[in-house]
Amino acid sequence: MKYKGSCHCGKVRFEVEGEVNEAMSCNCSICSRKGALLWFVPRGQLESLTPDEDIGSDTFNKHVIKHRFCPTCGVHPYGEGADRQGNAMAAINIRCLEGIDLASVPVQHFDGRSL
Ligand SMILES: [Zn+2]
Repeated sequence: MKYKGSCHCGKVRFEVEGEVNEAMSCNCSICSRKGALLWFVPRGQLESLTPDEDIGSDTFNKHVIKHRFCPTCGVHPYGEGADRQGNAMAAINIRCLEGIDLASVPVQHFDGRSL
């Protein structure tokens, strides 16, 4: 399945391939403020439709995840990083996907605050 996603104003647009079997809700300082529900996919399954220089980027803590956001509306549609094996991964905020029934996605709670 291919999903379309975007920030609120539409400046940051992307497509992502895969099945949303579950999402993660993290209680760390940034995720709890964003309220994102994250779905992890290999980076290759995410295709950005927006030029990289038009997407904001910030890092914190260990600086392994690039949190991407829209400089206009402030929404965080996804992050980019790597798993423990060093594979490039993307963390998609499924709240930014079109045509998805959020209530049907099982949510795992992750204690990121304790890392
Ligand atoms: Zn925007």
